[in-house]
Amino acid sequence: MKIVVLKFGGTSVGTIEKIKKVAEIIANYKRKKYKVIVVSSAMSGVTNELIKKSSKISDNFSNSEHDVLVSSGEQIACSLIAGRLVHKGYKSRSWLSWQIPILTVGAHRNSRINQINSNKIKKYLKQGGVPIITGFQGVNNENRITTIGRGGSDATAIMVAKFFKAKRCVIYTDVQGVYTTDPNKLKKAKKIKVISYEEMLEMASLGAKVMQPVSIQDARLNRIDIEVKSSFVKKTGTLITKRSNIVNNKIITGISSTQNDSKVSLIGVKDKPGVAASIFKPLSKNLINVDMVVQNISANGKETDLTFTIKSDDLNKTKKIIQENRTIKYRKLIFEKDVSKISAIGVGMITTPGVTFRMFQTLADKKINIKVISTSEIKISVLIDKKDTNKALAALHKEFKLDY
Ligand code: ADP
Ligand code: ASP
Ligand code: MG
Repeated sequence: MKIVVLKFGGTSVGTIEKIKKVAEIIANYKRKKYKVIVVSSAMSGVTNELIKKSSKISDNFSNSEHDVLVSSGEQIACSLIAGRLVHKGYKSRSWLSWQIPILTVGAHRNSRINQINSNKIKKYLKQGGVPIITGFQGVNNENRITTIGRGGSDATAIMVAKFFKAKRCVIYTDVQGVYTTDPNKLKKAKKIKVISYEEMLEMASLGAKVMQPVSIQDARLNRIDIEVKSSFVKKTGTLITKRSNIVNNKIITGISSTQNDSKVSLIGVKDKPGVAASIFKPLSKNLINVDMVVQNISANGKETDLTFTIKSDDLNKTKKIIQENRTIKYRKLIFEKDVSKISAIGVGMITTPGVTFRMFQTLADKKINIKVISTSEIKISVLIDKKDTNKALAALHKEFKLDY
């Protein structure tokens, strides 16, 4: 079977007019004799609205009910797409994850798809049907609805492509592909023709919302090529594929930035073995993700300063945990909310020396202060004041020759 998986994001199905357009894209693939499987997100804004409702009901809304509530947005969008296709004379219906089923493992709100039963959908495809599958949701071994993390419909699409051995997996979204940086933040951003899984994973994890990081990990593990393109403009998009398929002469492929980071500093912590562990253990127990970490060299051998970053959504919880932790002693605790992480990503930096220096010099020339630094083989990240984000993006984009 020549199967193609088409995933539509929230903005692509954001209004009735847009859903009609989406149905036309699907019909085009049908005319080309593809067996089409569609995965859809909720109409844009719906998931956020549902989350707001839950917080008004209780500040202790359970994670299992959270999943039942927020997954309902996808049901609406899928039913509307199927309805439009039927209106146009095609055989189509919505498939909710439990009807297939799409099985998940892991905690509510953050589960992972580990199995998709292909029987019913294959039978439906053979009958000429177009299944419209709900993204973002699954069902666990207790038969409860789960969700797989914000932006998770991307991961649903990749796993559907895997389990149905699809020829193509196309992610339709509101931009024309993956850009050198967010095109909504910098006009000079350029569309990237081909990008490796490794670079896309770094870009996505470091703020490029266009693809959800887990979906890229799954695609890399299963060697699934992804095309990212626009639902609104008929143009070639971006191909995400393995590194050996790519000839790239740029040192840096893209620049990402994050919006909602916070910095926590503990000043004058006793410098002895086990201190860092006693700070981070309760955070990890509470599922708080610690990102950049720096510990200063102790000047007198007795005290040191420890700084780390977290998501701002976790700031209040983190404050409480540290303040209530009787096992750590420090002189001062500082929280800083308005910080942003800017990262330069590219496999080219493995073989090109001097990238770190160029990044620091560019920021210095713009009088932008660097608060924390972290690096890996293919990325350099710096933490700066949030107000400097766009200035830093533009300067680095130019420095690394991405403007043209
Ligand atoms: P969807 O609703 O289709 O899932 P998202 O809102 O999740 O779409 O992702 C698309 C958005 O990602 C774009 O509107 C764009 O602002 C943002 N984005 C951030 N970084 C990038 C990038 N490097 N390339 C393209 N888009 C990006
Ligand atoms: N609707 C979900 C969200 O807003 C999933 C998705 O958009 O992929 O996070
Ligand atoms: Mg998305």
